[in-house]
Amino acid sequence: MQTVVGDPAKTNLLSFEPAALTDWVAGIGQKPFRAKQLLKWLHQRTATDFSVMTDLAKDFRAELESLACIQTLPILKDHLSADGTRKWLLDAGQNNAIETVFIPEDDRGTLCVSSQAGCTVACRFCSTGHQGFARNLTTDEIIGQLHMANRLLDTPVTNVVMMGMGEPLLNFDAVVPALRLMLDDNAYGLSRRRVTVSTSGVVPMMDRLAQACPVALAVSLHAPTDALRDDLVPINKKYPLAELMAACRRYLQVAPRDFITFEYVMLDGVNDQPEQAWALIDLVRSYDVYCKFNLIPFNPFPQSGLKASPRSTIRQFATILSDAGIVTTIRKTRGDDIDAACGQLAGEIKDKTQISGRMAAQRQEQPVRFQSRGRP
Ligand code: SAH
Ligand code: SF4
Repeated sequence: MQTVVGDPAKTNLLSFEPAALTDWVAGIGQKPFRAKQLLKWLHQRTATDFSVMTDLAKDFRAELESLACIQTLPILKDHLSADGTRKWLLDAGQNNAIETVFIPEDDRGTLCVSSQAGCTVACRFCSTGHQGFARNLTTDEIIGQLHMANRLLDTPVTNVVMMGMGEPLLNFDAVVPALRLMLDDNAYGLSRRRVTVSTSGVVPMMDRLAQACPVALAVSLHAPTDALRDDLVPINKKYPLAELMAACRRYLQVAPRDFITFEYVMLDGVNDQPEQAWALIDLVRSYDVYCKFNLIPFNPFPQSGLKASPRSTIRQFATILSDAGIVTTIRKTRGDDIDAACGQLAGEIKDKTQISGRMAAQRQEQPVRFQSRGRP
C-alpha cells in the first residue's frame, strides 16, 4: 500500500516549534501576533485545515493554503480496550507502523508517544528492539500523535510519556521541538512535571536535555550490576552504571521533580531476586540519587526467551525497596486485550497483510470506532 502523506511541496506546520513558527510567519511577511494565533489553531484547537481559522485575515489564510499543510500520520488501526485504553497504529510509510497509546485514569489521561520507528538499542526484553530500526520520526510525526489524540478523544491528554517505540534521546533534534510544543501555553500547555522522557541511558543526551528542555525523566534501569545490564540493555556497554548514576544526579539539579523514576522490568530468575533489590538500594544510595522505582510486569513475546516474574516475586521485590524508604510502584498492566501493553508495540504490523490472531479476534469483538469531538 502506498501512503500519500500530504503535498511534499508544502510545509507541514506541525514541524515547527513555537519560535520556528514565528520565524516562518515572519519569512512570509506577517507579524509575530499572527504566529501566536496560528499556533493556537494548530495545537490548542487541533485544526486540520485552514478554512476553520476564521479570525485570520483572508489573504493570510490564502497564503497558508498555497504554501503549507497540517498533516499527521494516517491511522491504520484504532483499537479500544475493555479498560478504556486506546491504541492507534500509525502508518510511517515503507511498511513501518508506529504506535500511540492513551491510558485513561480517574484524574488524568496519559498518552504514550513513540519517537522512532523501531529502535537501535535492542534491549533483550523489548519487542521494538527485536524489530530493528527503520528511522527517526520527525517533529511533526511526534507532536502529530498528541494532535491526533486530542482531536479524537473525548477528554484531552493531561500527561505525556515518551515511552512508546524508540529511544527519544537518540532522536534528540526532533524530540526537543516536540517537547517545547507540549509545554507552550499557546500549544498544549502541559507542565514540565506532566511530560516525561524515558531513556535507556544515553548519558550525554541526558545532559543536553537538562539544558534544552528539562522535563521529568524516567531511566530504564532493569539491572543493579554492569554485567547484567550489559546483557539486557546493550547501551550500558557504552554508558555504564557509574556514568548513568552520575548523569542522574546532574539531571536532578534542573529536573522539574526532585526524583528520577527508575523503570525496572521484572524478568523471572534474571533480575528479580531479593539480593538484586538490595544491590539496587546500595547502588542508588552510593550515588545519592533520589529516586522512585516503577516495577513493570514483563510482557512476554516468543523471541525474547524470557519469562515474566510471578506476581508474588514482584510484590516481594517492591517490599524490599519500600522498606528501604524508596517509593516503589508496580505498573498496572493496561490494554492487554489489544496488545497495547508496553513492549508490544506495532510488531504485528510489520506485514500489514497479516493481523495477529489475538488482534483479529479482538477486532471482531470490538469493531474499530473513530470518535470525533466535532472540534475544528
Ligand atoms: N527507549 C526508551 C523508551 C521506550 S521503552 C526506554 O527504554 O526507556 C519504554 C519502557 O517500556 C521501558 O522502560 C522499557 O523497558 C519497557 N519495556 C520494553 N519492553 C517491554 C516488555 N516486553 N514488557 C514490559 N516492559 C517493556
Ligand atoms: Fe529501545 Fe527502549 Fe525498547 Fe530498549 S526498551 S529497545 S531502548 S525502545
